[in-house]
Amino acid sequence: MTAFHFDNSYSRLPEACFRRMDPVPVAAPTPIRVNRELATGLGLDADWLASPAGTAALAGNAPFPGAEPLAAAYAGHQFGSFNPQLGDGRALLLGEILTPEGRRFDLQLKGSGPTPWSRGGDGRSPIGPVLREYILSEAMAALGVPTTRALAAVSTGEPVYREQALPGAILARVASSHIRIGTLEYFYARKDTDSLHALVEHTLARHYPERRDSDKPALALLEAVIQRQAALVARWQLLGFIHGVMNTDNMLLCGETIDYGPCAFMEAFDPATVFSSIDRQGRYAWGNQPGIAHWNLACLAQALLPLIHSDSERAVALAQAAADTFGEHFEAAHRVGLQAKLGFTTRESGDDALVGELHELMQAAGSDFTLTFRRLADLAGPDPDGPGSVAALFTLPERFDDWLARWRERLAREGADPAERRAAMVRANPVFIPRNHQVEAVIQAATRDDDFAPFHRLLERVTRPFDYDPADRDYALPATEEQRVRRTFCGT
Ligand code: AMP
Ligand code: MG
Repeated sequence: MTAFHFDNSYSRLPEACFRRMDPVPVAAPTPIRVNRELATGLGLDADWLASPAGTAALAGNAPFPGAEPLAAAYAGHQFGSFNPQLGDGRALLLGEILTPEGRRFDLQLKGSGPTPWSRGGDGRSPIGPVLREYILSEAMAALGVPTTRALAAVSTGEPVYREQALPGAILARVASSHIRIGTLEYFYARKDTDSLHALVEHTLARHYPERRDSDKPALALLEAVIQRQAALVARWQLLGFIHGVMNTDNMLLCGETIDYGPCAFMEAFDPATVFSSIDRQGRYAWGNQPGIAHWNLACLAQALLPLIHSDSERAVALAQAAADTFGEHFEAAHRVGLQAKLGFTTRESGDDALVGELHELMQAAGSDFTLTFRRLADLAGPDPDGPGSVAALFTLPERFDDWLARWRERLAREGADPAERRAAMVRANPVFIPRNHQVEAVIQAATRDDDFAPFHRLLERVTRPFDYDPADRDYALPATEEQRVRRTFCGT
């Protein structure tokens, strides 16, 4: 028997925060993949996870030693409207893994059967959303973006009925925690200030211990989450990542990306890009993400009001002042990232204008977001069309020439060595992202043909996103007109 160092501090919170319950066993669990690197990093025995005993535990057919499974309560603003009761409807928190270094991570099973919060849903997941989340979350981790992680995926051997029967699967997800803006909103809406207070203390202790002794802990938490979320959404913007369902129940207080339902990376640059089939108004378009994050953080500010100050006017003023800082935190993080993407280590007054003009050109030309920036990295180096360049698959059209001339003048004032500059820009500008049509192809192969080879191949490619190998050229190419995926769907 393998050793799992579980602690279950969430289950020691007030009872209203969760319901204890076990996963519902499935017919025939089969491993799809174990994330060995992640498992080892967490101090878990990857061989055991991949064994029949580990597969049974990952499927919910046998208990994880030391786990005390529970479904967590939460609410949330979905597309702007408040839903007072969401909760884990198809996921269970098994507990918190303590790593050998003393770090703490939630381990959750997603697709593990119905809970009191399933609202008529089956609590299950088809294989498609499980593979999508596995690929997208691991790609984001490799890109250096704070995110929940995929520890393992197993298929259940049971069909899941959507518009058609689909093979079922379960994802084992790891997160610093699953505490959402919507978790606090749940207790604010019920006027349960004691549970709200307990959650704030718990969250500060886990994620922001340095702020724990602040004289206004709830305000300190709000400020900390604003900073982390501003930095997070800046990273998304810099990668052309579109989350797609930025409801307040899908924003974590720890600042990690969560919910890879309808998300997608933008290809042809257009700030209005939306993929999610349910986002008919374009609320969560790429260009709206910073504004929506700000809006969501205002919901967090509101949920914290009862703890910020006993005088409600004073509380509102303090919360408002904190929420108002979102823009400056976002701009600062975004600007630093853009400077790196363009190869600038210094800052000049004309830089913002140069970025604005580049975006205009990209939009007018419908340039691929990822390859445009990667091509700039080549062009900043000593041998723009040499080995390791993307010249054979992507070059910038002539209309960029004037801009490129001005950018080169700007680079000349940097004085860095071109080879070093290229190396730094390559690290800021990935070449392999999980493109929508490739993710769809992987899901089709697994769903229709029970063929997981394309899944493993794509995963291996997108988890080394900065290293270009011409042998993997096809993975770097944007979708053709016929391949283009226009809509993505939530994983329900
Ligand atoms: P999501 O769209 O993944 O953010 O989920 C929104 C809410 O719907 C959450 O409370 C989920 O737990 C719940 N939910 C989504 N899919 C299912 C399902 N298949 N069965 C039960 N609940 C679900
Ligand atoms: Mg969600």
